[in-house]
Amino acid sequence: MFNGKIVLITGGSRGIGRACALAFAREHATVVITYAGNEEKAKETLAAIEQAGGKASAKRFDVADPKACALAVEAVVKEHGRLDVLVNNAGVAIDGLVMRFKDEDWDKTLDTNLKGAFALIRAASRPMMKQKGGAVVNLTSVVGETGNAGQAAYAASKAGIIGLTKSVARELASRNIRVNAVSPGFIGTDMTARIPEEARARMLDSVPLGRLGTAEEVAGAVLFLASDAAAYITGEVLKVNGGMYM
Ligand code: NAP
Repeated sequence: MFNGKIVLITGGSRGIGRACALAFAREHATVVITYAGNEEKAKETLAAIEQAGGKASAKRFDVADPKACALAVEAVVKEHGRLDVLVNNAGVAIDGLVMRFKDEDWDKTLDTNLKGAFALIRAASRPMMKQKGGAVVNLTSVVGETGNAGQAAYAASKAGIIGLTKSVARELASRNIRVNAVSPGFIGTDMTARIPEEARARMLDSVPLGRLGTAEEVAGAVLFLASDAAAYITGEVLKVNGGMYM
């Protein structure tokens, strides 16, 4: 499905990003994963991709740094000659009640989750325009659609992703660049592993399908939106949430 395509996945070393990396590689894409600092996990993911017969490399940079984002896209295009798919997946969740929330935690959340996606789209739009096509898939969250007590910064960043997705989809549609978002619910990754048991049980009560989603189930939606099967879909927010929010 992605033969000869170059796919850049931020935060592709762990969780949902890792599942996306493996799924794209299985469909014969050349994958570039990025990560913030956990080199061991990145190496492990690269080894898993190679073991499955895929091609992949890794880049380490902070997506909150727009210059680093621009340089990373430039390097991918220099190495591979093109960039077909950008998956803005890297993200952090810093929780806390708004009255005690620190400015630096607000900035870190917004800079990583929202400004990072913006900076990478800005950098990727040039080569995608030149090659007359491309696909961007941004990871938002059910929390960006509904809000959540104790997650004001995270929810704001993810709601921002939806506005960013729809605006850029309109802006780049005439250049044959599609921009969509996937909105996961409660998915079993490191990000949700630290949720206390009681809160976890309460969250599961609100999921009609009665279980956590898997990173692979989210990756399936990302792959679909990036593929030609979704050639007439842009500006969409695809929910992968077990019915948690309809
Ligand atoms: P995760 O397991 O915590 O993995 C996060 C990934 O992002 C890692 O590869 C990490 O790199 C990278 N990363 C974090 N901060 C970064 C930074 N400043 N610069 C570059 N890379 C950075 O996350 P996940 O649960 O798979 O979530 C992936 C995406 O889905 C996020 O955008 C998240 O908000 C969204 N989402 C998740 C859920 C869920 O239930 N898990 C639900 C809705 C939405 P290192 O390993 O080097 O730290």
